[in-house]
Amino acid sequence: MMEKKNKLIELDGSHGEGGGQILRTALALSMCTGTPLRIERIRARRSKPGLMRQHLTCVLAAQEVCGATVIGAELGSQTLEFRPGRVHAGDYRFAVGTAGSCTLVLQTVLPPLMQADAPSRLQLSGGTHNPMAPPFHFLERTFAPLLRRTGVGLDLTLRRHGFFPAGGGEIDATITPAEGGLRPFDVVERGAPLDAFAEALAPALPRGVAERELEVMGKLTGWEATQLRVLPARQNEGPGNALMATLVHEQLTEVFIAFGERGLAAEDVARQLFAEMRAYQASAGAAGQYLADQLALPLALAVTESGRAATYTCTELTEHSRTNFGVIERFLNVRFDTRLEVSRGGSLWRVDVLPGAS
Ligand code: AMP
Repeated sequence: MMEKKNKLIELDGSHGEGGGQILRTALALSMCTGTPLRIERIRARRSKPGLMRQHLTCVLAAQEVCGATVIGAELGSQTLEFRPGRVHAGDYRFAVGTAGSCTLVLQTVLPPLMQADAPSRLQLSGGTHNPMAPPFHFLERTFAPLLRRTGVGLDLTLRRHGFFPAGGGEIDATITPAEGGLRPFDVVERGAPLDAFAEALAPALPRGVAERELEVMGKLTGWEATQLRVLPARQNEGPGNALMATLVHEQLTEVFIAFGERGLAAEDVARQLFAEMRAYQASAGAAGQYLADQLALPLALAVTESGRAATYTCTELTEHSRTNFGVIERFLNVRFDTRLEVSRGGSLWRVDVLPGAS
């Protein structure tokens, strides 16, 4: 694929939002472009800085996928040097080993594997529904259908739910590269609303928890009983609790999630979820804040490969998104142009991903 340069890229991991996203995006693009990478001050602004188990799993997964030479792949390490080799499609098993999110491991190795010369099958284990990470249902309903518009196949199966602190979740993923290269696409409008529903997950907890959450969700939204569902748990799952809301539109589906925890009333979990969903509904942007940062990388790769621009709109532009755009611009010959638009339908951000920055 087209590369900006193969000279080592140095990044300051404390820049901008300063989280694990800088590491994952940089690892993914180092593999996609064959560019060596050095990151310093990894997660320097987090309360437990450096590589945690979940980030270390991302580094080791990336190393396995491309046979990289790596220095600093240790727990707590704040400096990493990563010299990628050739990316190999194949069958892989990646285990976080704690309740840390395994969907973030997928986020790291997906970009190189979707540009490989054959399909790959991944078995991922760890957390599947974690705060501060894409929950499985978001990947399945929101992210994967949009990724398919680039021509890439991403098929996901949830084998077991994994919650903090027990973990033990399992996801299978099959990644099929796009025939004839990645195609950019636009997602500017949501399109007509088609469906809306809430689902409560509460494995190994009293059934009343899920029921109370759904009851409050029903009152707040006016949704009918058929739109309020308790999801079945498998044996030995949990304990854990998540309440999800899914809004299906013609052009995309958004999934929102709130987590129950000890000391937080089930009713408050529902109120949190409702507030997040309402914030999305108050804007006319197509993508919610999380999708906005996750669309950036696959679209930038598609724009780089095809030389054609892509556009999307989103409800807000977080520091996360801006940081991600900055990291992507260091590796790929693309530019992110962003502008705020205010209309009667509410405000939104327009993001143009343009080829040929320099
Ligand atoms: P970081 O905080 O830097 O480790 O990055 C977290 C990643 O998880 C980002 O890509 C976020 O978009 C994603 N994320 C966090 N919360 C959610 C959520 N509720 N739904 C979907 N994605 C999420």
